[in-house]
Amino acid sequence: MSTMIYNVTAVLMDPAHTVLPNAYVVVDGHKITDFGAQRPQGFTGKCIDGKGGILMPGLVNAHTHVPMTAMRGYGDGNNLQDWLNNFIFPVEAKWDDRAIRACAALGLAEMIASGVTCIADMYMHTDAVLREVESAGISANVSCGGVQFEEPFDPDKNHDCVVQRALTEKWHGRDDGRIQVDASIHGEYTSHAGLWDWMARYAADHGLGMHVHLSETQAEHEQCKARHGGKSPAAVLAEHGVFDVRAIAAHCVWTTEEDWAILARKGVSAIHNPMSNLKLGSGVAPVVDLKKAGVNVALGTDGVSSNNCTDFFGDMKLAAILQNGVRHDPLALTAWDALEMATVNGGKALGRKTGRIEKGYEADLILLDSEALNLIPCHDAANNLAYAAHGSNVVMNMARGKVIYKNGEFLTIDIEKVKKEVAGYALPLLFGR
Ligand SMILES: [Zn+2]
Repeated sequence: MSTMIYNVTAVLMDPAHTVLPNAYVVVDGHKITDFGAQRPQGFTGKCIDGKGGILMPGLVNAHTHVPMTAMRGYGDGNNLQDWLNNFIFPVEAKWDDRAIRACAALGLAEMIASGVTCIADMYMHTDAVLREVESAGISANVSCGGVQFEEPFDPDKNHDCVVQRALTEKWHGRDDGRIQVDASIHGEYTSHAGLWDWMARYAADHGLGMHVHLSETQAEHEQCKARHGGKSPAAVLAEHGVFDVRAIAAHCVWTTEEDWAILARKGVSAIHNPMSNLKLGSGVAPVVDLKKAGVNVALGTDGVSSNNCTDFFGDMKLAAILQNGVRHDPLALTAWDALEMATVNGGKALGRKTGRIEKGYEADLILLDSEALNLIPCHDAANNLAYAAHGSNVVMNMARGKVIYKNGEFLTIDIEKVKKEVAGYALPLLFGR
């Protein structure tokens, strides 16, 4: 059955930056089939009155580690190495599938409530994450974050190669493409050439995308150059074919002009995680330079452990204003640039037709309450969305044509059960309390 959402201001996220007042959007199955300003007569499907709210494409969180919601605020106030070695890694060693599922559901609920309809996730116990993604109803590109510390490399013995094969067979393309499995290299510094070659070949042979962390910290970037005769992580991974498929590279903080050329040539999308990069003291990614070099730049939250929340509108605002500050240029990035990073660019990065209100695109749509105090008045919808909106202004989340969140209520997640499971099982397991 068709559904029509009407009485909305529609922000299409098309190249012309169209904002349609008093608009309607029609959805059939999981696709957008019509939209415009003249509401069609004689429509017989289901009608949703948008009550004058702002309708925009669902947000694409293109880099996250959703179970890390459990580590919100844990170990904050330490330097990066102490934080990882004394707090994060010891907790991660305790995970089991049940705890992962509880914390993934909590993280997904937080994202859904603030308007995210599609994610790219990288984490261990990946099958358990995928079970929660499946029932939550959002779209996801999910990867296991391949690491290789052992030598010699044997794909039949490397844990993540074994997992990669099983995940691909079980999950890739499920629910008419809603769920996709990506290949992944956690990072140049957590693996060797054996894994890079194997993942690159595996992704190419199975039509998978690739998800990597790239040049997040100065130490990571410089140590790679010292190990590889002056070559950067981007250069080394490119040489091993890691970027010969559709690929996303998280962070790119310390990438240089030569790296930007590689990423642009290979069609790699850079995923900007400004909140995490600032909190961990990693630096500020050269977003304006990446864009100038022709690199598609999308937006991510990174894990909640380094953010510490997934109000994606907050990340969008930070992305929008951060470049202006460091470049002493109020026009370095515009509100539209930030909105594109959070929507259409994310769709491009993940190889999906999402992030735009356009016929044939996925019916990933969110509605914001234009009566919220922080959205009054509205001189310009884009400026309000990029600089003034909160995740809590989202009153409806429609993922692939299905309403999964409405007026504070989750329709695919039993949130009280999830909270109980987090408090009663996951937190005692991970933190002993
Ligand atoms: Zn990350």
